[in-house]
Amino acid sequence: MNVKTKKNDGEKSLAKDLLRFIEVSPTPYHAVAEMKKRFYSLGYEELKEIEPWRLHLGGKYMVSRNGSSLLAFRLGNNPPEESGFKIIGAHTDSPHLKLKPNAVYQKTGYTQLGVEVYGSVLLTTWTDRDLSLAGRIIPRDSNAEPVLIDLKRPILKVPQLAIHLNTKVNEKGLVLNKQTHMSPILELTDDKLDCEDVLIKMIAEESGLRLKDIFGLDLSLYDAQKGTIGGRNGEFLFSARLDNLASCHAAVEALLSVSELDDPTRVVVCFDHEEVGSGSAQGAESTFLKDVLERIQNHFKPSREGFLMAVARSFLISSDMAHAIHPNYADMHEPHHWPRLNGGPVIKINANQRYATDGESAALFERLCVRANISVQKFVNRSDLACGSTIGPITATNLGIRTVDVGNPMLSMHSIRETAAVSDHKKLISVFREFFSCGHIQSQSKPKSLKKKK
Ligand code: ZN
Repeated sequence: MNVKTKKNDGEKSLAKDLLRFIEVSPTPYHAVAEMKKRFYSLGYEELKEIEPWRLHLGGKYMVSRNGSSLLAFRLGNNPPEESGFKIIGAHTDSPHLKLKPNAVYQKTGYTQLGVEVYGSVLLTTWTDRDLSLAGRIIPRDSNAEPVLIDLKRPILKVPQLAIHLNTKVNEKGLVLNKQTHMSPILELTDDKLDCEDVLIKMIAEESGLRLKDIFGLDLSLYDAQKGTIGGRNGEFLFSARLDNLASCHAAVEALLSVSELDDPTRVVVCFDHEEVGSGSAQGAESTFLKDVLERIQNHFKPSREGFLMAVARSFLISSDMAHAIHPNYADMHEPHHWPRLNGGPVIKINANQRYATDGESAALFERLCVRANISVQKFVNRSDLACGSTIGPITATNLGIRTVDVGNPMLSMHSIRETAAVSDHKKLISVFREFFSCGHIQSQSKPKSLKKKK
C-alpha cells in the first residue's frame, strides 16, 4: 500500500466515524450521550455538579449540564494558575424543527404536528424530506432520569405544493410561512381519532414505557436519510448537522487521543443553544465553563487571584463550521478570501468582533497548523454583508480568555443536508491534537517598540 492510499484510508475512516457519530446524535441530548460513551470507554469519570469533586493528578473527567452540554477535561501536572487551560469549544445543537407542546391536530384528513422553527433553518431544504423524530421523555417519577428516544423511521413529511398550484415558484423562489407551511403530515385519518393520544401512544410504543409513565416530551424532527461520502473521488461528506457536530467529534477525538500528561489542563466543551444565541443555563453565555474551570483551580489552590491568573494564561479554540466558496454564488464571497473545501481549517476574522480572532490568536493557531503539517485558510465576510457569530466572542467576553475562531469549510450551512470535505476533517483533528500536545501556550504578548536604527 503506498503512502497516499494509507493517508486516504485514515481520512475515510475518520469521516465514516464522524458520520456514525452524527447518525446516533439526532439531538444535543443524543450527542452528549454518545460523547459520554466515548469518554467512558477510555476511562473518563463522570462528575456531578451537585456533588463535591475529588480530582487527582492526570485524572480524566467529564461533567454535563441539562444532558445537552458537555465538558470533558484531562487534569494537568501543574496548577492552572501556572499553566492555564487549553480549551476547545464547539456546539451540540443544529437548526431544526421542534414539536410544539400541543403538537397534534387534524386537518383535511391528515394528522399533523405543529412545529416551532429552532434557529436559522434553511426552511426549503426541510420540505419533501423523509423525516423522523427524536428527543427525550420526561418520566412521571420526578426522581427518574429522562429517557432518550429516536424513532429512526421516516414517519413525517413536509410536502411542497405542486408547481401546477404555484406556477411562479421557480421565478419568485419558494416562500415558506413558519406557522402555516412547515407542519409535517404524520398519517391519514378519518377525523374521529383522539388527536392528543396519537403522539403519546406512538412514543410509548416505541420507547417501551407505559403510557402513564410519560409526563413530558422534548422532541425534534430530523432527516431520516443517513449521511454518506460522495463525489467522484469520495471527497465530499453529505450529511445533516455537520454544523457543528463535526467540530464536537474532532475535539473529542483529539482529547481522547492524547495519552501523555501535560502541564496545562486540557478541556473540551460542547454547548447547547448556540444556534439561538447561547443564552440558557447550559449555553455558552451561562456560567457552565467558568464554574467548572473555577472548581478545577480550587482543587489545586482555592484562590480568586489564582483563578484569574489561570484564565489569563489560558487559550480557547472556538470551532464552528465556516463558509467555503460556492461556485454558483462566488460573488457573495469576499473576492480575496475564498476558503476551499479540502483546503484545511479556516480562521474566521471580523473587525466588529463577531469572531473573537485577532492577529495574535490567529498566529498561534497558524503555528499549530504548521507544526501539524496542514494547510490553513482565512475568512472574512464581504464588507457589505452582515456576519454570523459563534461561541467565541461570548466566551471571550465572559471569561476574558484569549480566543481564536476557526472551523472547517462547508457548503449549504443550516441546510438539512450540508456538504463538507472528507480530508478537512482529519486536518482539524490533527491541529486539535497538536494544540493538546504542544506543552505550554505562549504567554500574552508584551509589545516591544521598534528601535530606530542609528
Ligand atoms: Zn455552528
